[in-house]
Amino acid sequence: MFRASVLTLYPEMFPGPLGVSLAGRAMGGAWTLDTHLIRDFATGKHRAVDDTPAGGGPGMVMKPDVLARAIDHVAPEGDPRPRLYMSPRGRPLTQERVRALAAGPGVVILCGRFEGVDERIIEARALEEVSIGDYVLSGGELAAMVLVDAVVRLLPGVMGHDDSGTEESFEAGLLEYPHYTRPQVFEDRTIPDILVSGDHAKVAKWRRAEAERLTRERRPDLWAKYQPRKG
Ligand code: SAM
Repeated sequence: MFRASVLTLYPEMFPGPLGVSLAGRAMGGAWTLDTHLIRDFATGKHRAVDDTPAGGGPGMVMKPDVLARAIDHVAPEGDPRPRLYMSPRGRPLTQERVRALAAGPGVVILCGRFEGVDERIIEARALEEVSIGDYVLSGGELAAMVLVDAVVRLLPGVMGHDDSGTEESFEAGLLEYPHYTRPQVFEDRTIPDILVSGDHAKVAKWRRAEAERLTRERRPDLWAKYQPRKG
């Protein structure tokens, strides 16, 4: 069973969207979620989890000693799961990384707040920094949910149809082709003839051509990587 452990200052945000639909139905079956309040690992009268930045400047920084205790409690030495720190500075999350995580035993996810965490905890606990995009959220919780959602839907038995993950955007290095469903005519727009022709080979060819067109038009970065594998 895939186990996601989340360290956060706001455990009440979970399971949130992870508790509904595909992920929610599979919770307790294909995967489990445990959340841990970082403040529980703080000491002293005020149970401080953050302090002012060395060198000055705005904001606060999460303390490495508190985070170390939290991480060591949730993922003691020998826990095989990767330890992720959600961070705008991290390597951008890709479907490839998501698939690799889904093939493993689970994840331990540290959610930052304030200006982020003391750099030494990243080094000392070998945290892998993961970004969900080039923008700044106010905390790592939503980013953690994005990652867990993307991973959980790939776990065996979670998606209804076993093939539904294989043709999606990014799986073949391309964006996905357009979808249509009934009615046949919607506000004077019809479904492309090929899709209602019943000719499966032609449908597959059309879909591939559309996936290539969309990728070329919208994501030159993906298209550049895809081209060498063509043909
Ligand atoms: N001072 C940091 C910087 O400029 O890189 C931003 C800190 S942000 C306000 C607080 C926390 O939100 C971060 O520690 C991280 O956990 C999370 N976060 C923000 N943006 C993120 C992103 N794009 N991907 C993943 N996590 C993010």
